[in-house]
Amino acid sequence: MTLDDFLLALVAPARLGEEITPGVRLLGISTELGPRLTLQVGEHEVHVEIAPREPTRPSAAQSSRLALSYRSSTSAPVDAALGVSLCRALVDVIAPNEETALRALRDAAPHGADAESSAKVREVRVARLLEPAGTPDARYFSVSPYVGCLIGCRFCYAHSHVAVSRTLARLPEVPWGSYVDVRINAAEILAAELSTAPLHPIKFCPIVSDPYQAVERRHRVTRGCLEVVRSEARGRPVLVLTRSAALVDDMELLASMANAWVGFSVPTEDDAVRRHFEPRAASIPERLATLALLRSRGVRTFAVLQPVLSDDVEALASALAEVVDSVSIDVLHGVQGAERDFDDPRFEHMRASSWQAERRAALAQALAARGVGVWAGELPPELRGPR
Ligand code: SF4
Repeated sequence: MTLDDFLLALVAPARLGEEITPGVRLLGISTELGPRLTLQVGEHEVHVEIAPREPTRPSAAQSSRLALSYRSSTSAPVDAALGVSLCRALVDVIAPNEETALRALRDAAPHGADAESSAKVREVRVARLLEPAGTPDARYFSVSPYVGCLIGCRFCYAHSHVAVSRTLARLPEVPWGSYVDVRINAAEILAAELSTAPLHPIKFCPIVSDPYQAVERRHRVTRGCLEVVRSEARGRPVLVLTRSAALVDDMELLASMANAWVGFSVPTEDDAVRRHFEPRAASIPERLATLALLRSRGVRTFAVLQPVLSDDVEALASALAEVVDSVSIDVLHGVQGAERDFDDPRFEHMRASSWQAERRAALAQALAARGVGVWAGELPPELRGPR
């Protein structure tokens, strides 16, 4: 049983598109950021996330084994009363199914040597790849050729999402940065999905992995997917974001795509800071040099700062202005597993929300003074709007 099957088993006998309880329709399922149902309640579209019930996990409602929480599928928040009553109604739906569904998931879990190998690099096959995302005025798809990331930045928020799915699937509990699932049939699935998909941009970005982490050099799943998008010949916009210099291997491919946007995370100008927070990622000089190369080949380039780790925003703005067309800036949203990194007296100040906000504003100003566009959110302004 896959996690997709598990979600459908929880709400059986209802199927996709059907009402699972009066007034609540099942619009979609997803396991990309942990198991999630997308539901329509009246005119609202709400995500309900499902996780194992644990004493410390906040939730809106709980069954005997599972915890349910809600969030909006758009930028508008969900009314709390609606969210809680929806989760409670769902508990009534899943309660009769959950033991059977959890048992089937447990029986499908790897055992023995399989369990051991699943702690590291595991080849998996998927039935779906395109993940719809965004808001009504900025729809896009995300694509993750891998799940898990061997670069293993400790502040990475992907870990908390992936951990829920791994716990439910009874995969071994191993540290973030030590495992990755390789979606070996991703290109084939993507080709089939694109034939009917609207022309939304596709983001190959680190939601649950980095598309150019080291295993890409062996498996080339990201490359295969990019080749599929290129062959579509509709000029679909593609955004690729990485912290890995292995992207340079696909320079020719990216330069040959009609509408490619390629970015690096560049949170700092100082490679000593990078070594502290992202020891397994590409150096700052490597990232800047690759961006310069991309730009010289006519590829649109961007940088993402999330979080901001720069003590010298003027130097960073000058470096970025040489190599990117635009920059997206966001602040630190919780230190995740990086408490010790931020406890270091050299970097302690960077965890303060006031410092993050002040750096973001100062960097935006410094970039604007150099004629570099600054954006927030998931898509550059040029890629927003109906398609
Ligand atoms: S490279 Fe990206 S996806 Fe990988 S661990 Fe770092 S932040 Fe997470």
